Amino acid sequence: MERFVETEHCKSRAHCRSCRLDSKWRAGIADHWGLEPDFDCPYGITAESVKEVLSLPPLTKMAGNLAREAFHAARALAGGSELCVPDSVMDERLDLCRACDYFREEGNRCTHTKCGCFLKIKTHYAPMRCPIGKWVEYRKE
Ligand code: SF4
Repeated sequence: MERFVETEHCKSRAHCRSCRLDSKWRAGIADHWGLEPDFDCPYGITAESVKEVLSLPPLTKMAGNLAREAFHAARALAGGSELCVPDSVMDERLDLCRACDYFREEGNRCTHTKCGCFLKIKTHYAPMRCPIGKWVEYRKE
């Protein structure tokens, strides 16, 4: 029999907030899958960490982040930067994101407070950069 931890519901992390913060939701899952009502997250996510790790920044913060990045991109483009990266660079960036604690599979989003971006878009553009330096803006050699 499939275990809850092996389902896409659990693996996608799309429901982590409900699972860690909504006791009724968690009780329903526990009942359905035969788990203890307060089962631990198999990925170690707690009620405290889920707020930081998986929630997106507030909309106003994301708007500010986007404006800052757009300004940065405009300056980089005026300075001769490429607009887009080669596919191989985009793949490398996405691999780094997928391995990052701030990555949210649902929508391929970065949940870092200085970001919130859709990563399949962000990683495509050369002037973009990771808010914690895991990847940097692209410049053609
Ligand atoms: S942009 Fe940086 S912080 Fe955000 S998910 Fe990617 S690697 Fe992590």
